[in-house]
Amino acid sequence: MYTLLRCLFLILLPVIAIAAERGPAVPEYPADRIADRIYVIHGPLDMPNPENQGFMNNPGIILTDAGMVLVDPGASVQSGEMVLRVAGQLSDQPVVAVFNTHIHGDHWLGNQAVRAAYPDVAIYGHPNMIELIENGEGKSWVALMEQLTEGKTKGTKVVPPNKPLNHGEVIKVGDHTFRIHHYGPAHTTSDIMIEIVEPGVVFLGDNVLSGRVPRIREGNIQGNIKACEEIVKTDASVYVPGHGKTGDRDLVEIMKTWFSTIYGNVERLYAEDQSDFEMKDEISALLQDYSGWIGFDEQLGKHISFAYLQIEADNF
Ligand SMILES: [Zn+2]
Repeated sequence: MYTLLRCLFLILLPVIAIAAERGPAVPEYPADRIADRIYVIHGPLDMPNPENQGFMNNPGIILTDAGMVLVDPGASVQSGEMVLRVAGQLSDQPVVAVFNTHIHGDHWLGNQAVRAAYPDVAIYGHPNMIELIENGEGKSWVALMEQLTEGKTKGTKVVPPNKPLNHGEVIKVGDHTFRIHHYGPAHTTSDIMIEIVEPGVVFLGDNVLSGRVPRIREGNIQGNIKACEEIVKTDASVYVPGHGKTGDRDLVEIMKTWFSTIYGNVERLYAEDQSDFEMKDEISALLQDYSGWIGFDEQLGKHISFAYLQIEADNF
């Protein structure tokens, strides 16, 4: 009897410990059909917080005849599990591949849930993303998400991509063809945009957002403009931003106009010897169409300073 109890205790102990260290499940969000057999779960637009439990990106679900493919399965193990539950309502097929658009943890920490459910799944990402994770950025993102959500993402672990890929590569999964686009540093140094050749859908990552101003810290504004210019050369008709509603190529043009307005005007005012903070009012007036976007006031000054530093460096 004692042995039996002891065995039970030893079996239950880790279960109890895991339960205590885990944040709650993320409630299910609807999957919106954006093209034939392609769905997007449009997450909330806010920053990660306790209410959204960190889930605020746009996971993609593609139903190929060889299994499901996911894009960016969310910010935590709980978000990834939610994406799998929603995907399971669309198809009985297993998940056979995952694409991660870039290093920011709100897009890929859900990998853990997919790997747990499908140990052989191929997870694709840019080599720079894999290197950044090896150098500790993955762990930093786990900690940041836990902090921003006040522990709701607890239990999340780093599961990096295991299949590096670069610009121009083509991955075939069943009856679908995925073409990878990378045009150098843009939103980050590790962005890939995923074109699904038929029926012409592009997952843009955070190179393009809609309704929210992207954070720009480690990227390159001119590179982001270039990414926008290059991606609309595809024959795609549907574009999925990293955050915000899916749309057509206008979505890309609107984001490009934001960046080119900032860069062009900072360059002009720099030549007139203005400092970055003196430029803000004039540039803000030119970008009033974006004033309703989340993060407009907070991010505009940062974008101007970022452009200013780049232009200053180019002038030395
Ligand atoms: Zn990002």
